[in-house]
Amino acid sequence: MSPEPTLRLRIDKQALASNWRELDRMSGTASAGAAVKADCYGLGIDQCVPTLRDAGARHFFVAHWSEVAALRAHIDGAQIAVLHGPVHDSDVAYALETGAVPVINSLDQARRWTSGTAGANAKCHLMIDTGINRLGVAPSELSDPAIAALNIDIAMSHLANADENSAMNARQLSAFRECLDAVSHDSASLSNSAGIGLGTDYAFDLTRPGLSLYGGVPRDELLGVIKQVAHVQVAIIQTRMLKAGDAVGYNGEFTAKTPMRVGTVSLGYADGFLRVRGPGAVLMAGERALRILGKVSMDMVVVDLSEADDLGEGDWLELPFHLPDAAQQSAVSQYELLTTLGHRFAR
Ligand SMILES: *Cc1c(COP(=O)(O)O)cnc(C)c1O
Repeated sequence: MSPEPTLRLRIDKQALASNWRELDRMSGTASAGAAVKADCYGLGIDQCVPTLRDAGARHFFVAHWSEVAALRAHIDGAQIAVLHGPVHDSDVAYALETGAVPVINSLDQARRWTSGTAGANAKCHLMIDTGINRLGVAPSELSDPAIAALNIDIAMSHLANADENSAMNARQLSAFRECLDAVSHDSASLSNSAGIGLGTDYAFDLTRPGLSLYGGVPRDELLGVIKQVAHVQVAIIQTRMLKAGDAVGYNGEFTAKTPMRVGTVSLGYADGFLRVRGPGAVLMAGERALRILGKVSMDMVVVDLSEADDLGEGDWLELPFHLPDAAQQSAVSQYELLTTLGHRFAR
């Protein structure tokens, strides 16, 4: 048995299931899949995928082939799609062995898939680049014989500016529609979380939410709909009295003006709490906000306990983690707040 943790990540599974259902509802006649790459955006495949599966998700998206195995353990018959596609020949063999379906992103990947699966007529997905210029074949490449040789299940594209009211959204939508006429496919998919907020015109047959499953709110349409999933709890590991003039932490950025009681809390960079998040941040003891003093110092922060005599070593505090608010407070994106949580939390 491992000793008691001083960091906990509580995953609210009801909120997670509710988020998937709401995103599925907002997808209209399309169904919602689930982007579960990066270990469910840092929250944990083992904690999240069974809930998403039981809520009804049937299409799971990861970025790397190395993410397939952990996911397979939890889904039975649902489909795993690998967004980065077959970069190496060994990826093709791995796809055939595991049943994970590659997203083809280039003519090279298309040829690699076709030659590696010779005769199998194996299904793949196709990413079409309609303006993000990241992954995907260009619309002008769709007439290439390498694309015609594919057996395409989902034809997809990815929105670059869906979290903004940008003219780019409508441009990508109409470009995607034209591409769908040019390539044979079973179904079509365009929207990520923010795209779902743009409305059902953008939904096609399948949506691919990630961020909002885990509590992210990239557009106002999702405010009040999406619930907080991750709750970050941190323990006080030591308390101390400062004298007037005592400085706290690296570079002594906070100096006590009067004697005061402070607590050292086990939360640091490796837990996603980067130095940029320190200034102005608080930890909550119930309704009380305790300010963080000085710099985040590797594995620790120091909080002001002058108004919290009752708190001592071993007591738990909560890091405010309502993602839109936390992102605004810290200038760290909602994606980064989640994916940098690290591996030291008891989940
Ligand atoms: C990560 C990803 C998603 C999910 O995006 P969110 O903004 O997190 O909802 C959807 N589609 C693709 C291709 C992705 O890479």
